[in-house]
Amino acid sequence: DPSVRLDFYVSHTLGLSRKEAKVRIGRGLIKVNGEEVKKANRIVTADDDVFFLDEQLSWPREKYFVMNKPVGFVCATEDSEHAVVLDLIAQPDLKDLRVVGRLDIDTTGLLLLTTDGQWLHRITSPKSQCPKQYRVWTSDPVTDEAIENLCQGVQLNNEEGLTAPAEVERVDENQILLTISEGKYHQVKRMLAATGNRVVQLHREKIASLSLAGLEEGAYRPLTDAEVALF
Ligand code: URA
Repeated sequence: DPSVRLDFYVSHTLGLSRKEAKVRIGRGLIKVNGEEVKKANRIVTADDDVFFLDEQLSWPREKYFVMNKPVGFVCATEDSEHAVVLDLIAQPDLKDLRVVGRLDIDTTGLLLLTTDGQWLHRITSPKSQCPKQYRVWTSDPVTDEAIENLCQGVQLNNEEGLTAPAEVERVDENQILLTISEGKYHQVKRMLAATGNRVVQLHREKIASLSLAGLEEGAYRPLTDAEVALF
């Protein structure tokens, strides 16, 4: 937990300038663990009870959400043409909320959102090799040869080298579960295109061991501490 100066803490939790925070502290309006503290350089941590008059101040916690993204929303914070996934989130303060990776406008399924930049990076960084599972519906039957190629690696248009090894489970003739650990632009659609097929519907089922588990389309919920700790 962070240890910070009282004036920093008061300015951040109350949305004041440092100077305004110091004035309130100097006037004796701030209590730490029940005692008036007039020193701006007093160090406080998340374990301290800090009050401004009758209002208990609390350190803003990072936010983590999982959403079942519907069709028609783009993974951006603003878009001139389309609704954005943040429009689906009813929270007072969305300012620092960022989308973890991107799903296409016509893709549905598991999407993570967070204010925590390091956590976001751990999931999206190519180095982390975080597995993402997609349910893929195709225009044409997926052949055994195509499955073998997808598993071993295929050549994407305008990319050097092959895609990293993937896992494929056949659901039926025109449906597979594809697990990839990379995240290139439109990767799943381009992988199927590389086998001469076309994706007609795409849904992300899982990121690592995290699944949607009953979350309806368009719904979202905060992650539990244990889920945050998965990454
Ligand atoms: N691959 C795609 O082609 N689209 C997505 O939305 C996600 C992965």
